[in-house]
Amino acid sequence: MTAKTGPVPSGKTAAVPAVLLAHHLKQLKLPTILREHEKVAREAARDGVDHVRYLLRLVELELLDRERRVTERRIGEAKFPTVKSLDTFDFAAIPSLNRMLTLELVRCEYVARRENVIALGNSGTGKTHVALALGLAACQRGFSTLFLTAHALASQLMEARDEKRLLKLQAQLQNVKLLIVDELGYVPLSQVGAELLFEVFSQRYERGSTIVTSNLPFEEWPAVFRSERLTGALLDRLTHHVHILEMNGESYRLKQSAGRRTAARAEPPKATAHQDHAAAPGEHDRDPHAASQPS
Ligand code: ADP
Ligand code: MG
Repeated sequence: MTAKTGPVPSGKTAAVPAVLLAHHLKQLKLPTILREHEKVAREAARDGVDHVRYLLRLVELELLDRERRVTERRIGEAKFPTVKSLDTFDFAAIPSLNRMLTLELVRCEYVARRENVIALGNSGTGKTHVALALGLAACQRGFSTLFLTAHALASQLMEARDEKRLLKLQAQLQNVKLLIVDELGYVPLSQVGAELLFEVFSQRYERGSTIVTSNLPFEEWPAVFRSERLTGALLDRLTHHVHILEMNGESYRLKQSAGRRTAARAEPPKATAHQDHAAAPGEHDRDPHAASQPS
């Protein structure tokens, strides 16, 4: 009588644990461990690494990959029209922009503090580029982000209202950690659009960060929102704890295509680049700490 002990014979039986392991790893959603475990095992055997370290290595690989996948998903959900970072941004081309402040903002502490950013300046000066870079940085640092033009946002809100799903959309817009509203003022808003947009800013007040870019100075915002009163209330919320990026200058695109440097002198910036409470037209007289701004 011979007892059937000893190593499992090779062939079909030997494959069973591997098949089971693959199945379980899939079930547990550990694709990196599934992909890497054999290779890492060979390396561990070669280097005489013990089991704990082997397992640690695998788990670390899975964690890193998972973070990368989550960040990629977040970037996808942000709906950036293009992905841009400050690596490709030439600060020398826009002297009015506070470089230190911009680099500080990329660290995203303002998002954690639920503060806002407003980038103001004429067309082609890199406002969208900077907003995209800040959005990307926020995604990389774990903050849910959504990028929209003011026009698209107003349209989506009006559509949602007509389809009786406004509350749901408003809840989504309220919960995102960073909302980027690009190109406020490029296209005039309808009365309803302006009011719905105002509601979004209002609902996000001190709940989440908002970045707004605009080609219009604050004085001209009433024309966009079709109401002095609405604009006053809006700026009151938006500019409480705000970082202003002054981006007036030559259009980068025009300068590139012209291939020359114009001798035009840049206008001195109108407002301090970093304000705790930017003055809005007709507002804030009651706040003695508000940065004064000539009207
Ligand atoms: P704005 O939103 O202010 O109208 P954009 O951000 O759309 O300007 O800039 C127009 C184009 O020029 C974009 O392709 C942008 O990446 C590029 N650009 C603008 N400013 C800079 C800069 N300082 N460095 C590098 N690229 C820039
Ligand atoms: Mg733009």
